[in-house]
Amino acid sequence: MAGRMGEFDLIKAYFSHPAHTEGLILGVGDDCALLKPSPGMTLAVTTDTMVSGVHFLPDDDPRDLGYKLAAVNLSDLAAMGARPRWLFLNLTLPAVDERWIAAFADGLFAQAKRHGAVLAGGDTTRGPLAFGLTAMGELPSDQALRRSGARPGDWICVSGVPGEAAAGLAHRLGEHLLSEGPAAQALARLHRPEPRVALGLALRGVATSAIDISDGLAQDLGHILAASKVGATVELARLPSSPVLEALPKDRSWRHQLAGGDDYELLFTLPPDEAGRLPDLPAPVTVIGRIDPDPGLRLLAPDGSLFPLAHQGHDHFA
Ligand code: ADP
Ligand code: MG
Repeated sequence: MAGRMGEFDLIKAYFSHPAHTEGLILGVGDDCALLKPSPGMTLAVTTDTMVSGVHFLPDDDPRDLGYKLAAVNLSDLAAMGARPRWLFLNLTLPAVDERWIAAFADGLFAQAKRHGAVLAGGDTTRGPLAFGLTAMGELPSDQALRRSGARPGDWICVSGVPGEAAAGLAHRLGEHLLSEGPAAQALARLHRPEPRVALGLALRGVATSAIDISDGLAQDLGHILAASKVGATVELARLPSSPVLEALPKDRSWRHQLAGGDDYELLFTLPPDEAGRLPDLPAPVTVIGRIDPDPGLRLLAPDGSLFPLAHQGHDHFA
């Protein structure tokens, strides 16, 4: 099967799903896509790249890779409070392996569809396996969830259970072994993250700041603190847990929760007078700490001591 297909056949076969949706005047097939945002809305645009050997292993399931590529980009839209609209795919492939491409496209479209995002264009080249996606969403610009709005006294909230994806990666790398059930859960979190799009929409005009946890809770919270010029105290005893994390020694599970990343949960700040909304949000949310006027991040262990976290998260160039 491999080898005979050219670039244009490949695009036609796998990436030009006819999508006659509102706002997409012209999609895949011309020099540019023509897009029309809804009246009064501002575009929110983000892009993320995944490189073989850095973000995934070459023998990873291509369906998972397509799914995750869409998920990580939609997660950035969620963290801004944007409604997903259009995607652009940059694909670099060493060769045409149709089975691989079909499964990759399948995963990508499956995740995109869940959130109403449509592939509107892209670029296809030959080279070492890598791919990038650009995602566009829309929002009322005055309701964007920026990193800069956290205020002293705000509650620090997190969705879901951060740390499970890191537990999955450590299991996969043989750093620790999980039993069958927890391993399956952790690996699912690692390979098939679900962006918190509905939560992001619900937080518009409610949260004072937000970020998605891609590189580690402590490091990503640090971005909010820097942008908002505030500090924070996080209580480790409040971090959401799960059977996956309970299966590990406390010190290790804290490190996964605080520095793991890759779960694509939302971290956001909420003024205390908005606390009544917590039970009605479209995702499980836990209050883990509060914003302080003093700069810096204090991690409080259950015994009241300060927890030392040498490595706060992932940095490609550190
Ligand atoms: P150009 O040479 O003008 O950049 P291309 O040959 O790169 O045009 O692309 C032709 C059309 O196919 C464009 O509409 C482009 O957006 C689309 N396209 C190319 N690669 C992809 C891809 N991987 N996914 C989706 N659309 C793609
Ligand atoms: Mg091109």
